[in-house]
Amino acid sequence: MKRIAVFPGSFDPITKGHESVILRSLGLFDTIIVAVGVNSEKKYLFSLEQRIQWLMEVFSDYPQIEIDSYVGLTIDYCRFKHSTYILRGLRTSADFEFERGIGQMNKQIYSEIETVFLLALPEYNALNSSVVRDIYRNGGGIRQFIPERIKI
Ligand code: ADP
Repeated sequence: MKRIAVFPGSFDPITKGHESVILRSLGLFDTIIVAVGVNSEKKYLFSLEQRIQWLMEVFSDYPQIEIDSYVGLTIDYCRFKHSTYILRGLRTSADFEFERGIGQMNKQIYSEIETVFLLALPEYNALNSSVVRDIYRNGGGIRQFIPERIKI
């Protein structure tokens, strides 16, 4: 059976932290679907089209990586894509507590699913999209925090 993983997130915008987790997991899965979750109640800084375009640029050299978006529950999307792995990154104990709740609920809903965590690299431990958005909104430079290929 093919090992298909979904890496869900907002990617508003994608950071070097996301990129690192995705690239480091290439050896674990046959296919990784980087999926932008669309929540109609959430306000995003960058449009869905822009976020998807960036993801496509960043991972264009990797045929194993697909880019997609979805509405609704991540677990329903995984089932729809025949994915039995959810890939997540862990930075802090707060990430862990948050992910544990979701991961255990997902397992109850869909018993075939396994959530796989990769530890953040130490240099990306403090990196998160919301800080990057804040810097950008206030006119600061964000190039050092986002993948090289993104020209912003
Ligand atoms: P959200 O679902 O809140 O939009 P993000 O898109 O920021 O979350 O993150 C998606 C996934 O990427 C999560 O598993 C998160 O822990 C992970 N992640 C985010 N930033 C980093 C980082 N700097 N290093 C490792 N993993 C990260």
